Formats: sequence, structure tokens, C-alpha cells
Amino acid sequence: MADNKKRVYCFGGKTAEGDGTMRELLGGKGANLAEMCTLGIPVPAGFTITTECCTEYYELGGGFTKELKAQVAEALKATEEVMGKKFGDEKDPLLVSCRSGARSSMPGMMDTILNIGLCSATIPGMIEKTGNPRFVYDAYRRLIMMYSDVVMEKAEGIEPADGQGIRQQLDRMMEELKEAKGYASDTDITAEELQDLCVKFKARVKEVLGVDFPDTAEAQLWGSIGGVFKSWNGKRAIAYRRIEGIPDEWGTAVNVQSMVFGNMGETSATGVAFSRNPANGDNKFYGEWLVNAQGEDVVAGIRTPNPLNEATKNPHNQHLESLETAMPEVYKEIDAIRLHLENHFRDMQDIEFTIQEGKLWMLQCRVGKRTGIAALNMAMDMLNEGMIDEKTAVMRVSPSQLDEVLHPILDPASEKKAEVVATGLPASPGGAVGQVVFTSEAAMEAAEKGIKTILVREETSPEDVEGMRASSGILTQRGGMTSHAALVARGWGKCCIVGCDAMTIDFEAKVARFKNGVELHEGDVVSLNGAKGNIYACAVETMDATENPSFVKFMDIVDKFRTLGVRTNADTPEDAARAIGFGAEGIGLFRIEHMFYGSNSDTPLAKLRKMILSKTDKERIAALKELEPFIKASVKGTMRVMDGKPVTFRLLDPPLHEFVPQSHDKKEELANELGITEADIEKRGAALHEVNPMMGHRGVRLHVTYPMISETQFRAIFTAAAELQKEGLNPQPEIMIPVTISQRELKFQRAICLKIKAEVESMTGQHIDFKFGTMIEIPRAALTADRMAKTAEFFSFGTNDLTQMTFGFSRDDIGTFMGDYLGNKILDHDPFQRLDKKSVGKLIKYAVQDGRETRPDLKCGICGEHGGDPSSVEFCYKIGLNYVSCSPFRVPIARLAAAQAAIKNA
Ligand code: PEP
Ligand code: MG
Repeated sequence: MADNKKRVYCFGGKTAEGDGTMRELLGGKGANLAEMCTLGIPVPAGFTITTECCTEYYELGGGFTKELKAQVAEALKATEEVMGKKFGDEKDPLLVSCRSGARSSMPGMMDTILNIGLCSATIPGMIEKTGNPRFVYDAYRRLIMMYSDVVMEKAEGIEPADGQGIRQQLDRMMEELKEAKGYASDTDITAEELQDLCVKFKARVKEVLGVDFPDTAEAQLWGSIGGVFKSWNGKRAIAYRRIEGIPDEWGTAVNVQSMVFGNMGETSATGVAFSRNPANGDNKFYGEWLVNAQGEDVVAGIRTPNPLNEATKNPHNQHLESLETAMPEVYKEIDAIRLHLENHFRDMQDIEFTIQEGKLWMLQCRVGKRTGIAALNMAMDMLNEGMIDEKTAVMRVSPSQLDEVLHPILDPASEKKAEVVATGLPASPGGAVGQVVFTSEAAMEAAEKGIKTILVREETSPEDVEGMRASSGILTQRGGMTSHAALVARGWGKCCIVGCDAMTIDFEAKVARFKNGVELHEGDVVSLNGAKGNIYACAVETMDATENPSFVKFMDIVDKFRTLGVRTNADTPEDAARAIGFGAEGIGLFRIEHMFYGSNSDTPLAKLRKMILSKTDKERIAALKELEPFIKASVKGTMRVMDGKPVTFRLLDPPLHEFVPQSHDKKEELANELGITEADIEKRGAALHEVNPMMGHRGVRLHVTYPMISETQFRAIFTAAAELQKEGLNPQPEIMIPVTISQRELKFQRAICLKIKAEVESMTGQHIDFKFGTMIEIPRAALTADRMAKTAEFFSFGTNDLTQMTFGFSRDDIGTFMGDYLGNKILDHDPFQRLDKKSVGKLIKYAVQDGRETRPDLKCGICGEHGGDPSSVEFCYKIGLNYVSCSPFRVPIARLAAAQAAIKNA
């Protein structure tokens, strides 16, 4: 970094050196603090140390440049001037906070230190100035607690045994004091007792960590700055970044800001609020506050916070006074600021404020995290209010949020029959059903086994982030709607209930006890209704929530911007109908073999087995004749539902041995049908065994060996189409040959196809239109695309196999090593979930180009699992595919991802 580089940006007193556009350099918090200052909103003065300094700090092996030191000194001077106090001054000391602030918000994942600057030199002056020794010692004990935890323990990489962290030890000391004195609340502790407690705290810190608590303002400040930088690489922060895909290189900024105090008595308070309801999107100012408290008290869920206003009271806080009635003037001021901020940023804001002796200060604003349903409702409301345009509305809902909207809720009918055990605060909606677990580790272990869990915790600690992720729902005893658990769960669209005070947890005995006597032990099934806050001690059925009218309107707007087609992978009339409901424009992959799995497959499967185990062509042809009506019925049913829309039928793909009967009954049955012995069946089955079946006799190779198998499928498809045409319908079959490597395979199959078509046409008197194409799922096919396109009228990229063949990773066996590849950062993503653009993507891109050189109107689509992955959809849009095809439930996600790709890349 060049030495004249600006490393520190001041804000305060209605001006700022930075602004809201500088997120990369100043982090989200720093950029918005600067922006609020320039909007004339009251913000305590301070300065932001850039994210580049975080990187620099690590490059220096944990150090500060002299340039940074000098710029911080200067910025501190400017802050002192605005606030009229001096940092470290013996008479009227300025105290500051030190907070992290990354580019994109990571709620609760990094650390904050408050009240920096209190030390033996400044405490007497502070007491003199405030006339309130209790307040000063309370602030000091908080500083000792936060600083020893964040800077002296966590940042030093010390990992104490469970429950033995310095913060927990100090917490216990305070609890013991309260117990000894019979105090109910922290606020009952006297000034003298707090002073004494601070002495004991410092002795404990020295005893446990082996270092003196720093006793100069300067040492505390630099310790805190380093501590915040180090918290970027703390365990919680790293885990959160992995989940959210935030790059490690970004680093965090540090915001040093003058302290204002919400704990100076009954005219002081602190709170957090959202400009609209983050759980459901309602346009109501929504938040929580506590009188005589510091910010950490609200988010940590130690006391049940009061409601912000009368309109948003809920059954849990309706007995508590709202800010609107307690401090009407201040409430009006905050309400005006929320409207100002929302109009300025044109999005829902999450704000933090403090009221010090009746004066309002804004400490933070940022775009608020929200659930999928809130994102959708807010986008549509703001569009209707004229606050945003349609394009912005489309960009406001992420594909994963849409996924949440499509997620299950508790089925109201089943819910009605269940008895509510208790209610908590409805922090994040949706329904969740799972087994009770009490630790993050248990949630993760269960998730690995595919077991659904509900994580039940006393408090809302950000340490639990991975366990929260792994569970289906979260239930906590304490905490408010803005607690960390609530915020994080909402961000992920995970069902969450907090503040269930009718529940106590006995961690030793692994049981949650409810006031009405119900007990939930580990492993018991519990159901949560995150929209109502209801808890049920039984399994309630779930259902999906797609009939929301906002969803339908939103998707209409999405389609205005979308140019990429979206089809579905479906092989039954039911799935096809569902996919049409979700907006599918055709079927991109109908896997013929799926009729041999699942319900009603017994008879066709028996016929297929007969065909597979036939010895002679005569036997085989006879078996195929019996099979044909079943294939015809299957393809006809789906083409009927898809009337007027293309349906891509893929010929039988899997190796035949997959269908060989395994059970004695089935073998016997088949032996009788074929008039041979069971031993013969076994012999014929064994002859089909392959060492590496995925690369063996499958796909088109089967149809090269046994052209009669393709004939049967072609005849079934064409006859079905002709019959539907006779009924006045408009079937649009497309025939697709799988696992090809050469144009000659296609020519060979196409000749058979045309012969059968002519036969069916002359038999039925119907002219049938169809398209003939191939899957591209082997690198050789992609690399010879110019030739393949001479025969194929369309390509459909089967990216499951194409990824398998490009990586040489068996798609069925990656479980044993993929975790290691991701954990060691050898791969950034599982390539079977997100298209690997560097390799598979490149093959697709060039195959499309080469294919279209040969055949300019070559239709290209993708039908592997990647067709429903938003980032892969964007890639497909960029390289000019005509459509993506994905499972029915992912169709809306693909539509949104395609529209967003078009907007982003316009
Ligand atoms: C593919 O390989 O991408 C594909 C869609 O086919 P299947 O998953 O049936 O092999
Ligand atoms: Mg395949």
C-alpha cells in the first residue's frame, strides 16, 4: 500500500469524508454512517479504518503501519473537536466504541468493544463529570468483560474449555454477587459493589489470561482495533463466510465512534428497529427498545425488550410500555428518520439508536435482512408505492429467498388438531418439524445422517451458526425479534421461534420443560409455526405456500425481463402439471426409464425384465411388443398435459443390469414367464454384469446393439402423438439420444426413427412433426459438436454426466471426498451443484458455438441438475442457451435467476 494512501475516513457533525457508495473500502457500516451524517441525521462522531488496513494488518503479521497510527491520531483529534471531549483526558474523557464492519453484513459474527478509554486515569474525571459513579463503574465492568473476551482471549486464539471462557467466568461472578445480595436485576447492584467487582474482574483476568488488563486509553484503543481485525478470522466469522459465500480476502473495516449512553437513567434508552416488518414485510415501523440499557442488552436477549410502538405490540410484550408512549417526541424523531432513510436508500432499513438523556443518536443503518416472504411482499409494496421500478423489484428477491417462499408451512388442518404447548415470538416464518437437539454439534451430526432437527437453545449465541444452519428450525427460551438467532434465521429463511419464556432447559438432563408440564427430551419430535410462534410437541403435517397472490404477480413481472426459456424435467402427468403451474414452458427431459420405478411400475417393469433377459431376438421382440403399450400410455399422458408445449423424450439411458430382478420372488416370476429356470435367470443376469457400468453398455450404445429397443420407443412416441392429434390436440415431441459420442451414432438412430415415423404415419394417416436431437454429456460429443449438429436439430447438455466425465469423479461416489476438496479449498463449489465454468462450462460454450456454425438455428438447452442453480442459470444465459430445464420445484427459481441474469447483463 502506497504510503500516502488514505487509511482513515472521518464522520460526524453533519459531514463525512466518505459516503454510502464506499462499501468496499469502508465496509457497510462505515459507508452508511458517513451517508447518515451527510443526510443531517445525528450520528456520534468517529472514523472508519478501511478494509485495506485489515489486509495490511495480516500482511504485516498482525501489525500497524506508522501511517495508520498517524492518521488515527489525526482522526481522533477531529472526533474530539466535534464532541468537545478528549480521549484519555483526566477531566472530561471521550470514550469510544470499536466495531467491525465488512462489505456485506455479518450480523453478530464479529466483535464489538464499548466504553474504550476508561482507566484509572480517566475514571475519577468521568465520575466527577457525570456525578454518577454507578454508571461509570457499570460501563467499566462492561469494558472489562468485552475487552478481555474479544481482545485478550478470542483474538489471541485461546480456546477455553466449555463454560470456562473469560466472559462466562466474569458473568458467573456477577451472577454470584447478585445471588448473594438477593438482587433480581443487574441494575440493583450498587456503585460500590460494581467498583469492587471491577477490581475482582481484573484480578480474574490476570489469573486466567496471565496478562494485566490494559490501563491506558491508548493501549485499549489499539488493542481493540487489532482485536476487531483478528475477529475477521474468528471461527464464527469464517463459518458464516463459508455459508454465505463471502470471500476471505475482503477483510473488515473498523469503526471507532464516540460513545453515547443509553444507560444513564430513565431518560436514556437503546433500541433496534426495522423500517418495515422483516418477518412478513408489513409496512409498519417495527422494533424493540430498553430503557436505561446499552445496545448489547437488546441484541443479547438478556431482558425482554419493549415494543417500539402501539401498532406492533404482540402477546409477549403488550404489557410493556412502547417508546411511542414513553418518549413521544423522540419516537416522532426516529419515525421521521426511518422514513427519510427508507426513501433515501429505497429499501427497508435496519437501524440502531441510542437515547442519551433525551437526545437521540443514530448508531447504524443498513439494508435489513428479511425472510423470503418479506422480500417478496416488500418488493411488490414498494413497486406499488412508486418507490422502486419493476427491474429493481425483480432484483430485490434472491432466488434462494424465492425458494423459501416455496418452502413448506405447517398444514393448517393438521395444525388445528395439534395442541399448542407454548408460544414464543414468531421470528422467522415457515413450518418446521424435527427431533429436538440441544447443541449445535448434535444438529450437525443429525444433518449428516439426514435427520431433521429443531435446535433448542436457551439463548441466541452466534457461536451456534453452523448448528442453526444444519437444523430445520430454531427455538430459543430468551431473546427478542431482533436477537442474533432471529436475524440469522430470517436471513436464511429458516423457521425460528425465540423468547419462549414458558420453557426452561435442563442441559444436563437434555430436556426442555414447559410451564404446562409437557417435557421434550432429546430426540422427541416437535413442530414449529414460525409465523405464529406456536410450538407443538408432536409431528404436524406440512404443505407448500405457493398460492400467495403476491408471488403470482411477482412472477409475471419476472417474466417480462426473462429471455431464457425455462423447461422442466418431468416424466409423469402430475409432475408436468405441477411444473406448468410453476411456469414451465416445456419438458426438457422426460426420462423414459422412470416409468419403471415408483408407483404403478410393477407390470411394465416385469415386461422390461423379460425383454432384458431374453436370449434371442425373437424373444426380445416379443417382450418389446408387450412393453410398447405401457411406454405409449406413459408418454401420451404427459404429452396430453403438456399440449402445445415441447416434450423432450430421452431414450432408455441406464445400463440394463440395473433392472435385473434381485429377489427370489421376482426371479421365480420371471422364470415362469420365460419358461426357464431360476438358475437360468441368474446366469443371464450375471452375463449383464459390468465392472464400470456408468461407462458401459448404456444410453445409445444399447440402442446400437439392439435397434429393436429404439424402434419400440419411437413407435410408442409417434403413435401417442398421432392419437393425440386425432383428438385435436397439439403434441410436440422431441426425441433425444443419450450418452452419444459421434455423429454416426445419431445417423444410425435417425434412420430407424424416420422409418418408424413413416410406418406410423401411414398406419394412422397423421403427419407428425418432431425434432431429433442429442444429449451432450461426454466431452467427445462436445468437442465434435460441429459434426453432431449436422444430424442433431437440438443439443441438451446433460451436465450431470458431463461433469462426471470431465472431472473423472463418479457422481454416485463423491460423498467420500467432496467434503475434503471443499474444506481444503481445492474446489470452491461442488461441481455437481454449481456448473464448473472453467471446464464443463467451457465445453458447453464451445459446443454451442461450433454447433451453431453448422446449424445456425440449433436449439440448445441444459437438463442436468445445474438447470436449477441460479449461478449456473446466469452462465447459461450468457453463453446464449435457449433454455434451462430443472425439476418442477425449481422452475420459479430458474425463471427468477434468468430474469436477473438478463437485467444484470443488459
Ligand atoms: C445428465 O447426465 O445430466 C442427465 C440429465 O441425465 P441423467 O442424470 O439421467 O444421467
Ligand atoms: Mg446423463
